Amino acid sequence: MNAGLADGTLTACIPLPLQVVIDDLGWWCGADGHERNEPFRTGIARNHVPADYEAIAYLGRELGMRPQAAMILCEWDRDNILRALPSSTWMGADWDNRRWIGPWLDEAADIIRRNRDCFEVTLHGIGHEFWLDGRMERAEWHDANGRMRPRDEILRHIEFFARLLEQHRLGPFPESFVPAAFLHRFGVADGGLAAILAGAGIRYISTPFQSMHLDAPPCCLHFGVDAGTITVDRGRDLRPWYDLGPAPGGLLTGPVCGMHWPNLLHADPARNHEVVDRWIDLLRLYGDRVDTMLARDTRAFCTQLIHRECARLDVGDYTIHIDLAAVRSLHAPAIDTAFEVRVESDGPLRFESPDAAIECTVSRTNSGGTLHRLAVAPKAEANAVWIRMKPSGA
Ligand SMILES: [Zn+2]
Repeated sequence: MNAGLADGTLTACIPLPLQVVIDDLGWWCGADGHERNEPFRTGIARNHVPADYEAIAYLGRELGMRPQAAMILCEWDRDNILRALPSSTWMGADWDNRRWIGPWLDEAADIIRRNRDCFEVTLHGIGHEFWLDGRMERAEWHDANGRMRPRDEILRHIEFFARLLEQHRLGPFPESFVPAAFLHRFGVADGGLAAILAGAGIRYISTPFQSMHLDAPPCCLHFGVDAGTITVDRGRDLRPWYDLGPAPGGLLTGPVCGMHWPNLLHADPARNHEVVDRWIDLLRLYGDRVDTMLARDTRAFCTQLIHRECARLDVGDYTIHIDLAAVRSLHAPAIDTAFEVRVESDGPLRFESPDAAIECTVSRTNSGGTLHRLAVAPKAEANAVWIRMKPSGA
């Protein structure tokens, strides 16, 4: 953990990264169906349209981020392949998706494909819930008591999710996962769902730790390493899941800005951008601080979060020392070595290090001081990084 440390003239810290995670994309029908044996869906009073996908890309593009779009894909099934997987939908073996086959599928798929750098397809599920002998239960991957669905069912749900992606050329298979209804179990001795997902290529999981079933505790405040995945605490969303077109407010205190699709949309899809703009304004504030930053993608996000929580940063007389021993000993999978340090000072500084390549960007200079964003890439063998600072003119 690194809070801002000050020697009176400057503040230096490893900022907390933020990632945006948006749940329940993929429905064409907006209606919440849970009272008639159908899934919860998004609960909005209109159908979804391609512009609802463009809203995600717009958010990501404006912020230089790659929001995770946690997708439910049953209503994308062109060929009714889900008849062969009765536990995945409310119609079971009689599954018929003809109603939702239309030009909007290609239009939305095209938006997703054209915006890969600002739209990350994340695995959420096929039908969100699990139909046991035709009766809907929460939820697709675990039940409400944290019992995993049978392993062969899990493998089939993963396989059919991949086939639905292939129908629309939306592959490769995602690297990230959000458990449906946040029902998840962490630290299972035989690996549990995390291990099965890791076998399919999932590297990153996010879910609120508060509702997660634990067989073993996560190692750190906001993340744990579980069967080859990095599992991150989503914390509490700022808005309820059904809240259409809100004016977002409140404080983000953890690393994930979680929301559900309606939170980003307008009742009139032509006006979606008005809602997205409000989120952009809120999130930009966190990008401009010394102690928080907006992560450009999930890998950079997890890299930064692990350094934030495990590296130790000390500020001395125009020096910064960063101890990386705890980061190294974690042997975390699927992260990079480069991370970000931020320094706020009265005036511009220059930075040098014998242990790391450093690229400095000055992102603002105003009465609040000069904010330096340092991309720090330690040499491979470095267990610690010394950084020397000098006033820019010296
Ligand atoms: Zn969901």
